Amino acid sequence: MKLNALIAQRVELSPDLIILRIIPDGWELPDFKPGQFAVLGLPCSAERVDFADIEEKSSNPDKLIRRAYSIASSSTNKEYLEFYINIVRSGELTPRLFALQLGDKIFVGPKFTGMFTLEMVKQHNNIIMLSTGTGLAPYMSMLRTILKPSMKNHFVVVHGARHSWDLGYRSELMTIRTLCNKLTYIPVISRPNEEMLKWGGQTGHIQDIWNNKNELLPFKPNPADTHVLLCGNPGMIDGMLINLIADDYVEHKKKSPGNIHLERYW
Ligand SMILES: Cc1cc2nc3c(=O)[nH]c(=O)nc-3n(C[C@H](O)[C@H](O)[C@H](O)COP(=O)(O)OP(=O)(O)OC[C@H]3O[C@@H](n4cnc5c(N)ncnc54)[C@H](O)[C@@H]3O)c2cc1C
Repeated sequence: MKLNALIAQRVELSPDLIILRIIPDGWELPDFKPGQFAVLGLPCSAERVDFADIEEKSSNPDKLIRRAYSIASSSTNKEYLEFYINIVRSGELTPRLFALQLGDKIFVGPKFTGMFTLEMVKQHNNIIMLSTGTGLAPYMSMLRTILKPSMKNHFVVVHGARHSWDLGYRSELMTIRTLCNKLTYIPVISRPNEEMLKWGGQTGHIQDIWNNKNELLPFKPNPADTHVLLCGNPGMIDGMLINLIADDYVEHKKKSPGNIHLERYW
């Protein structure tokens, strides 16, 4: 399979977290909806970073390892795709993605897909986007594509991570929040005792923020006019599903529309 794209930017947020910008090599990026994902791939023969677990040598070095990644860039951007990726040290693909440098080649599946988009959200409803780790990626694409100060509905992004340095896109979200009073951004860390500087923000887990929503949000969310999106750690998704169902929210299914939408990464 031809490696049909190039690494145009590599930003290392921490040893375990990178943002990759990828440009197509001789083809045009197709249209996609914010929230959708692309398939990235590298051959087994591609180098792994030396801090990843050691892997058995593959019998087929040309075999392409492919995985899904949510697109973080705006769907209006036709120049590049951006991805927010964390390493799984025992994983097959991410230790190879982390070894990529500017100009290196990569495979990008030519079609982008996925149901985790704003198409299922009723127009003018408030949108609460709950995420842990790289689960923020689809929300970045949504906000970068659609957010405007003239919008009537509220957008809330709650981003959970262990440490403040794991909160990717924090300065961009703080800037958007300053420019657009329709966005509420709540970063939350679960290990404040390990911070280098005292953390003045929210601590705990996404579920703790939900339990304090009436104090933290500029509006009182209720299932009649609010949709909740969940993306990231499966423990957070399952925990939040219990809380939301107890608060009369309903999981969205193809045949029965609801106001809880979720994307499971694993
Ligand atoms: C629709 C969709 C969108 C995705 N978008 C992103 C994204 O934007 N950014 C991103 O980093 N990942 C994303 N993923 C996860 C990604 O597809 C891979 O599963 C992940 O990068 C691990 O790949 P690997 O080959 O290194 O590990 P594998 O060899 O496939 O090992 C997989 C195992 O690693 C664990 N694992 C998988 N993902 C993670 C994770 N993020 N953190 C901790 N443990 C994990 C699970 O136990 C899983 O069984 C997405 C997955 C799906 C289904």
